[in-house]
Amino acid sequence: MSSNTKYIFVTGGVTSSLGKGIISASLAKLLQARGFTVTIQKLDPYINIDPGTLNPYEHGECYVTDDGAETDLDLGHYERFLNVRTSQANNVTTGRIYQSVIEKERKGEFLGKTVQVIPHITDEIKNRIKLLGKTGQYQFVITEIGGTVGDIESLPYIEAVRQLKWELGDNCIVIHLTLLPYLATSGELKTKPTQHSVKLLLEYGIQPDILVCRSEYPVSKDIRKKIALFCNVSTDAVIESLDASTIYEVPVLMQAEKLDEIVLKKLKVNELPEIHLEKWTEFLNRFHNPKKTLNIGLIGKYVELKESYKSIAEAFIHAGAVNDCSVRIDWIHSESIDENNVNEKLKGLDGILVAPGFGNRGIEGKVHAIKYAREKNIPFLGICLGMQCAVIEYARNVLGLKDAHSREMNPATNSPVIDLLENQKNISHMGGTMRLGAYPCRIEEGTLAHKIYGKSDISERHRHRYEFNNEYTKRFKEAGMVLSGINPDAGLVEIVEIPTHRFFMGVQFHPEYKSTVENPHPLFVNFINAALKN
Ligand code: GLN
Repeated sequence: MSSNTKYIFVTGGVTSSLGKGIISASLAKLLQARGFTVTIQKLDPYINIDPGTLNPYEHGECYVTDDGAETDLDLGHYERFLNVRTSQANNVTTGRIYQSVIEKERKGEFLGKTVQVIPHITDEIKNRIKLLGKTGQYQFVITEIGGTVGDIESLPYIEAVRQLKWELGDNCIVIHLTLLPYLATSGELKTKPTQHSVKLLLEYGIQPDILVCRSEYPVSKDIRKKIALFCNVSTDAVIESLDASTIYEVPVLMQAEKLDEIVLKKLKVNELPEIHLEKWTEFLNRFHNPKKTLNIGLIGKYVELKESYKSIAEAFIHAGAVNDCSVRIDWIHSESIDENNVNEKLKGLDGILVAPGFGNRGIEGKVHAIKYAREKNIPFLGICLGMQCAVIEYARNVLGLKDAHSREMNPATNSPVIDLLENQKNISHMGGTMRLGAYPCRIEEGTLAHKIYGKSDISERHRHRYEFNNEYTKRFKEAGMVLSGINPDAGLVEIVEIPTHRFFMGVQFHPEYKSTVENPHPLFVNFINAALKN
């Protein structure tokens, strides 16, 4: 294959939520399985610099990369599918684009010119797209354009794609994702919305090369021919994308539709290396044939919106498959738990996970749930705020510090077992100022964590401001809590466990971000294993 990086754009039409992220990740998986190097990028047309300041109700989970970028949850899918790390460069928002253009203007870099959407904003977008190609690490860069074609805010992105398509020639294609609605009254799949959305793209100067059509019913040869005729694409470039039982099935469905082959053909890549999806299909086999079902309680405050805990839910799927079991998540609102109903609410669970989070709402429910898991010897995993709550619970009920709390929830507490670090105290800007991204952690030998990871030095991703307060270290140790993972540079406590318990772990970091199909996270795998033995 020639040394030129090939650029694939994925746009969406008709409605939002068609699954551009999953289609992009699936195509990337297929190209990777044929031995090509691939990365995926998401361009988000909103004005926030990053989703870090967005409420989960607005935007679902905020995914964190190794280099500390707070990003769109689609990047989580990219990593889970490809088993390759993403970075800041993989997620760009309009806010970020304008921020750099305005900074350049203030530095005088535009030499007195009037700064305009075209060419300055579009040039900045094009640079961000080409940045990944220029690293020389990837043969294919797949760029997903957030939003729906026709949105006012995505216009500069569409224009940048038009320009790049012209500049890059055979090294660039556009895949347009659309919907074929089924009209029950006439018993037909309708192609008009697809035709209209392609017309809109054509108005903007873009002829899509491939159409991926989401549909609840199989798309017949005749419908494909009709779409091809109206939209100027070849019939083999009309790809059917049926609803799948799991997102992990989509690469296989896309392979059956030959999406990867048509992509290679359109990009004039004249080789078709053999495809190796063995590990992937083995995972699918295990996923579809569980020997047991486990009930894991996920205690959080955004449970109505499962997208908020996307990476945790996916990590359970990966860990379940390894253990040949299916993990049923019981989404439990922390505000619904109190001292009197906790036994009733959590009865019958095989394991309990207390989720990450911010703010006071639902905190007491989390603490009650942890007390229940600790006393009843039920496998427990606490992540970030979940770990902090485990520390608070232990302080209150074992150390006897009745008012123990995190200063985040109670700044006036006399026992701040979780507290702000000195360097977080004077921060006034909320965006991008938490402890973010990968940090090293040293694990003490002989602990459960050491057994699980099988090594002493690990790296995990963080997203929080508050920390275990080391003034209490001695008291916790004397009371039987093992502080098994420590940041070697700052001495911060990263993992706590209770050795007399069958599985009780709290981690200040987010293991869920690093769990992938081909590399399920050991903490989740062992947590599920402990729950199975429970
Ligand atoms: N709110 C806590 C903190 O900022 C925990 C954050 C989290 O769970 N991600 O430290």
